[in-house]
Amino acid sequence: MNKKMYKVGVLGATGMVGQRMIALLDNHPWFTVTALAASEQSAGKSYADAATWQLDTPVPSWAASMIVQKSAPPLDCDFVLSGLDNAVAGEIEEQFAAAGYPVISNAKNHRMAADVPLLIPEVNAAHLDVIDRQRKNRGWNKGFIVTNPNCSTIGLVCALKPLQEAFGITKVLVTTMQAISGAGYPGVASLDILDNVVPFIKGEEEKVETETRKLLGGFDGERFIDAEIAVSAQCNRVHVRDGHLECVSVEFSEQAEPEAVIRAWRSFAPETTKLGLPSIPDPFIIYKEEENRPQPRRDRDAGWGMAVTVGRLRRCPILHYKFVVLSHNTIRGAAGAAIADAELLAAKGLL
Ligand code: NAP
Repeated sequence: MNKKMYKVGVLGATGMVGQRMIALLDNHPWFTVTALAASEQSAGKSYADAATWQLDTPVPSWAASMIVQKSAPPLDCDFVLSGLDNAVAGEIEEQFAAAGYPVISNAKNHRMAADVPLLIPEVNAAHLDVIDRQRKNRGWNKGFIVTNPNCSTIGLVCALKPLQEAFGITKVLVTTMQAISGAGYPGVASLDILDNVVPFIKGEEEKVETETRKLLGGFDGERFIDAEIAVSAQCNRVHVRDGHLECVSVEFSEQAEPEAVIRAWRSFAPETTKLGLPSIPDPFIIYKEEENRPQPRRDRDAGWGMAVTVGRLRRCPILHYKFVVLSHNTIRGAAGAAIADAELLAAKGLL
């Protein structure tokens, strides 16, 4: 459907999320990488010299020889994907939007802004309608900012959306077991995480609680209206490299049999999956019957890291049901999510 090849710039290209973006953009059918940018420390070096490559697949050769640029406009590209550190993302992403670039951000800085979409293509594509308002509010002609949710929130919300549509949701309790790569590179010190679980990730519980309500809420043409769902999160860092596992309990508005809950996941077919976006697997939610799944090492790569795997559905003696959900934090929870957002924007003619 997309005849045009879009030129993409990657900000924060040397980081954990940036590296995943580069790997996922290798041979992408709609996007070709024409600019890589990071901090002043990396600018001027070849990408191979600037990045401490963390993935098991080699650095694509086209990227290895590219010279890293400063993260400032102009860059030779149609839009930018940002994997910038939170400390600098806010200001730099605004500079790019003001200079006319669509920006798709992984950082927390703009996620909860009243005129910025927090997007999961299969969940709330209609929130993109706020872009006109954003441009008007900020005096931007062509540029705009779209954000990805937090990496734990994405898996959780993908699992909740079909249940919200089928039965309504009133309460959610979630306990996360989050992978080390979620903290970036070099991230958590080995002496803190080896043989250990750290029951605190700064700001994470607040993000899961607030972002879930925005994502599952509506947009009435003027403002976002949060879903009326009470969400309580407890977040833990565990000794796993990639893949966030989450134990979830939910209360529904309506009674449901277990078969109907599983059917809701398996039959969920949002409009977006019909657009044929290259990064969205069909199905994107997988329900596993085995009593000991999902597991990070075995299930995180399902659907090339973009599927969300659910399992262990049981009745809950306190709320209605409990289950386990797993998603790959740097793919579905970050780099792949940003690329899928860009694909949706391209399919809607917004790039
Ligand atoms: P990271 O590995 O620490 O990478 C940070 C990137 O930001 C690097 O490319 C770094 O470039 C660049 N940077 C740092 N200071 C800069 C400056 N002053 N000017 C320009 N660039 C600068 O972090 P990450 O894990 O990839 O995370 C990136 C963003 O995605 C963060 O906002 C994070 O919260 C979010 N996120 C991460 C995950 C995950 O699973 N890791 C999931 C969801 C969202 P240099 O190498 O040159 O310093």
